[in-house]
Amino acid sequence: MESINKLLLENKAWAAEKKFDDPEYFKRLSLIQTPEFLWIGCSDSRVPANEITGTQPGEIFVHRNIANMVIHTDVNLLSVLEYAVVHLKVKHVIICGHYGCGGIKAAMMNHDFKQVLNMWLRNIKDVYRLHREELESIPNQEKREDRLTELNVQEQVLHLAKTSIIQRAWKHRKGPELHGLVYGLKDGLLNTIFTMTPDSALDPLYTYNDLGAE
Ligand SMILES: [Zn+2]
Repeated sequence: MESINKLLLENKAWAAEKKFDDPEYFKRLSLIQTPEFLWIGCSDSRVPANEITGTQPGEIFVHRNIANMVIHTDVNLLSVLEYAVVHLKVKHVIICGHYGCGGIKAAMMNHDFKQVLNMWLRNIKDVYRLHREELESIPNQEKREDRLTELNVQEQVLHLAKTSIIQRAWKHRKGPELHGLVYGLKDGLLNTIFTMTPDSALDPLYTYNDLGAE
């Protein structure tokens, strides 16, 4: 069978099973969306937000891109962030990286991936440069990639805190909390690497002191 047809059949079976277990399931879900979490993860097919956290549709608002990046000119990411923080009022924003990330590995190479991917990976190279000394003191390549994965997650959490979207929410409603997690493909576990709350210190260079109403 064509894989796309198999996918559509699986969907029918899944919808039927959900409805069998709970006849009101889809009706209820279609009326309201009140997730407490925004998940910013890697597009990697092995790191699906709902499955690895045991959550159901309706519980996590999701954005994914290569290597779970928060780039301050990315309108797509910022739209998702603004909607989740200002309108859905999520309590937690999660940046989830994962060991064995192809984006992290690619950024550590000197290969020309062509302009668009080069542009994206450039942001990860910048994280490497910030932590060059620590990273180059690690002789093992896989361990160095793992550490860059962790440092990249930490850096993306800091990028979130540098947005006026997060700073305004922190000022007006003392939330959301920002969590940097790394997922292990080999053991299926999420580990917390870095956390920021409205009380966390932020470089004054990036702090807005005249934030308006939410
Ligand atoms: Zn990845």
